[in-house]
Amino acid sequence: MPRAADSQSSASYGGRVGRTPGMPHPDVARGDPLAALGPLARRVRRSLSGEHPGEVGTALPPLVDHHVHLMLVGAEALADTAIAGVVDLGAPLELVAAGRQRDGLPEVDFAGTFLTAPGGYPVGRPWAPAGSARELDPVAGDGRSALPDAVSIAVSEQQSFGASVVKVALNADVGPVFDRRTLDAIVAAAHERGLPVVAHVEGDGMTRLAVDAGVDVLAHTPFTEQVDDALLARAIAAGQRWISTIFVTSYGAPSPDRDRAIDNLARFHAAGGRVLYGTDLGNGEQPLGVNPEEVAALVAAGLAASDVLTALTDPWPRRTRTDAIATFVPGPPPETPADLARWLTGAGIVPAEDLEDL
Ligand SMILES: [Zn+2]
Repeated sequence: MPRAADSQSSASYGGRVGRTPGMPHPDVARGDPLAALGPLARRVRRSLSGEHPGEVGTALPPLVDHHVHLMLVGAEALADTAIAGVVDLGAPLELVAAGRQRDGLPEVDFAGTFLTAPGGYPVGRPWAPAGSARELDPVAGDGRSALPDAVSIAVSEQQSFGASVVKVALNADVGPVFDRRTLDAIVAAAHERGLPVVAHVEGDGMTRLAVDAGVDVLAHTPFTEQVDDALLARAIAAGQRWISTIFVTSYGAPSPDRDRAIDNLARFHAAGGRVLYGTDLGNGEQPLGVNPEEVAALVAAGLAASDVLTALTDPWPRRTRTDAIATFVPGPPPETPADLARWLTGAGIVPAEDLEDL
């Protein structure tokens, strides 16, 4: 979870974000709203039934929120929404084990407990229940003990309970963080088991630490520091993905944290970085389902409609997406990127076999 917005002004914010107000996106200017949605969108008719008399609309792959906390919002919170998949980025292992047994939508991937330095974030936070964080002592010596070390044991335990992602907390603003040797050991242990590593970065230098250590994904667009272009380029070259979570920087209100996040995300995206849609659902008040304000923030960061849909439908951490279900949005496609968020509020999940390409 991000810290509360601070009161410092953001002198480094460079006004490079977004498009000139009133200027249509180039794809839309070409006059084909469906084409502006990119190759993931198809014009379809929903099969005839009593309730849905052959509606015409747009089909998209299943939508994924890549950052939620079911321990805070409840396992069933998204059951009646257009979100078909979620990634739970921090929960006690009992909840992971129970969640792996559950059928139905959304499908869930879990990170398990937050791995953190002794006394580090989120230990002691009022929202973090017992068992949701695991403190790991620093790796000593050359790290080459023949015995299974505490890091390997912790990572193996996450996986045995059903975690498919490993989450580390690197929040230097509120407590101690892993040293480089320990973080390297965690990343190595996760990668040996085929698990990607997601980091919560907050505080000066934490993005650099995550990039240096080969962290695969940032749980939040960095919002406490401006990420310089050279570091961005290294993150992108390494294939690092960023989960957006712009809305929760200040719940839609203007703030230096929000400005920094949008500026960082705009430059990350413009330079070729892979963005994943995510809301940090459970962190404060948010609508269930697709958050129109998160979509609008992605548009503000310069993502075209097709880029937003790529971020929303990336199957990460899965390699492939199910083809049994699809997203269906009735009615005509949005005329402008600004209309994308409102349009997506009409989305629902349907069996793929109910859709006929037009
Ligand atoms: Zn979170």
